[in-house]
Amino acid sequence: MTDTLKGKLIMVTGAGDGIGKAAAMAYARAGASVILLGRTQEKLESVYDAIMAEKLPEPIIHPMDLATADIADYEELGTSIQEQFPALDGLLHNASILGSLGPIEYFPPESWLKIMQVNVNAVFLLTRALLPALAQSADARILMTSSSVGRQGRAYWGAYSVSKFATEGLMQVLADELENTSSIRVNSINPGATRTEMRRSAFPAEDPATLPTAESLMPAYVYLMSAQSQAIHGQAIDIREMLARVQNDHASAN
Ligand code: NDP
Repeated sequence: MTDTLKGKLIMVTGAGDGIGKAAAMAYARAGASVILLGRTQEKLESVYDAIMAEKLPEPIIHPMDLATADIADYEELGTSIQEQFPALDGLLHNASILGSLGPIEYFPPESWLKIMQVNVNAVFLLTRALLPALAQSADARILMTSSSVGRQGRAYWGAYSVSKFATEGLMQVLADELENTSSIRVNSINPGATRTEMRRSAFPAEDPATLPTAESLMPAYVYLMSAQSQAIHGQAIDIREMLARVQNDHASAN
């Protein structure tokens, strides 16, 4: 455990599994209190137990289905965070669904709308509701999770790809708005191929052992939440490149 994020309050969406679970653990190990937001209560409880078993700062569980939550649910969450805590210091938008893959012509409209709800609309609604609490932090971070198909379109990646382009757009618009008026830093991250359930469902024939684990990416996730990343704003970040940089800096400091 380090104290890079000591005393900070950080929300992670999709904290029950995959990259979000690894990020919640990494932020807690770096000293943060983590708000675990996710769809499946049992998964959030098991992350809570893992954090408590390491005697790290006690997390807060907030079960919420981003596919069905309404505008009032986001507003209530924002108000309750403002009432209970002096500030929110970090927000990792990590939850996403892959949904259907296939050609646009045959793309199921219900699947399209659901993917947009979880991957784009929920990111907007949550950000909007939490901006007042983030503005109360002296040095807050918002990280939105993108993908390589959110930076270059690829056939058959349908709504998932389009939703990640929208994520990049939301990041750029918000970063530009906050550029000179706020200390909140906003960036998007592409974790790259990572050994999780989402990756397995997109590439069922791939051997997961050939992929990096979510845990291996965490030095970059922690760095981007920390005071050290103050100068990074409005950027579309490749996590593997950031990881190499962080590990290089660490090696030259020792
Ligand atoms: P996983 O599918 O393993 O985990 C996604 C998490 O999001 C789960 O905890 C899931 O909850 C949660 N979630 C999904 N839908 C909802 C919802 N409606 N409401 C609340 N929570 C929800 O994905 P990864 O860890 O692989 O992906 C994390 C992020 O990284 C995503 O944004 C993804 O697009 C991105 N990414 C991943 C890559 C990879 O190779 N893995 C590559 C590029 C980008 P539950 O477990 O309860 O279903």
